[in-house]
Amino acid sequence: MSNETLQNRKTKVIARGQGNTYPIYVDHAKNAEIWDVEGNRYIDFGAGIAVCNTGHSHPKVIAAVKQQVDKFSHTCVMVNPYEVAVELAEKLTKLAPGNSPKKAIFVTTGAEAVENCVKIARAHTGRRGVIAFNGGFHGRTNLTMALTGKVTPYKNLFGPFPADIFHAPFPMEHHDVSVKDSLKALQNLFKVDICPSDVAAIIVEPVQGEGGFYAAPTEFLQALRKICDQHGIVLIADEIQTGFGRTGKMFAFEHAGVEADLMTMAKGIAGGFPLSAVVGKSEIMDAPLPGGLGGTYGGSPVACAAALAVLEVMEEENLVQRSVQIGERFNQRLNLLKTQRPDLVLDVRNQGSMIAIEFVKNGDPEQPNTELTQAIIANAAQHGLVLLACGFYGNVVRFLPPLTISDAVVEEGLNNFTALFESL
Ligand code: PLP
Repeated sequence: MSNETLQNRKTKVIARGQGNTYPIYVDHAKNAEIWDVEGNRYIDFGAGIAVCNTGHSHPKVIAAVKQQVDKFSHTCVMVNPYEVAVELAEKLTKLAPGNSPKKAIFVTTGAEAVENCVKIARAHTGRRGVIAFNGGFHGRTNLTMALTGKVTPYKNLFGPFPADIFHAPFPMEHHDVSVKDSLKALQNLFKVDICPSDVAAIIVEPVQGEGGFYAAPTEFLQALRKICDQHGIVLIADEIQTGFGRTGKMFAFEHAGVEADLMTMAKGIAGGFPLSAVVGKSEIMDAPLPGGLGGTYGGSPVACAAALAVLEVMEEENLVQRSVQIGERFNQRLNLLKTQRPDLVLDVRNQGSMIAIEFVKNGDPEQPNTELTQAIIANAAQHGLVLLACGFYGNVVRFLPPLTISDAVVEEGLNNFTALFESL
């Protein structure tokens, strides 16, 4: 079977809305490498969009899943619960940043975790408003699209969206939006659009993922904490892309020493098995009535078993620390490209292994080089790489390697990336 044949079959039966970056059909994958149906090998610098932090098919994760499937694969945690869900909740509530007593709920996707945070915050406060940030991404369901700050391609054609969602600017130092500007705009929003006493929640990504890998400065997250405390607003940390060691801490809010009231967890939580969670302060988490949260598949025993194995692997292989090392190496190598071509590379930035290179024209922050970024993505596979783009203008290449990747594969992949960049 060839990639081309499969792509032809796919386009006939899967709608274009669920498009694919690469017409490359996976045969098998191991740690940081993927092999397609034609036997070609690729280094995976995307990890299935920050999901496979413990690599593809980690033997411990696979063993845990097999063991669970042999026992049972589904009963619904809301009907007949099981120990793996309880054990996972015990672990996640301890791992979540901060000292307040916490509880968890399990759902299936990142978007569902965000939706449930909003439900819980509204139930707790009795208020309607939710504030999110420009450039942020929170999912593709109706409410999470409304929270998402970028229109194309996430929101075109899909309105109307739920009411009572407001946006404020996210600080981006390379684009002249300071923390002060951002906070001033938030205060203005309180004056013009919604009273703070009507706001249930503020939701923020500690590092904007789809938005371009901009880390929220420490003083910004601390200021949000203060504003939320002042007005009784629930602070929601969307850690879906940043969680589970990706940024060099277990969770990215730890960099700022801030405790959110509610947080989302998904992607890296279970190494590829569909699972997400909301973890938050117990008194807030218990606001909804019994039966008001969850879903048929939320907290699948197979996914919970995978998640427990992922946590074990992260500890045994010291992956949080490893995330820092990998990020430093990418940063060094990508900065060489910036030195060589300051006209094309505006910025190289990373928080742990959430690494980005931003392309512009003529060294001008106001001229995003979307064309170059698209050319890099289009030619990545020929250079043996799987890469992802992001950013408001699609002018950022992001690197999310599995945290289990070896030094040799990092170097090989970065050599390939350099050759790719120089070929364009
Ligand atoms: N929130 C953030 C920060 C994300 O990065 C994503 C996915 O990329 C989501 C929410 C939505 O997650 P999902 O695609 O699993 O619904």
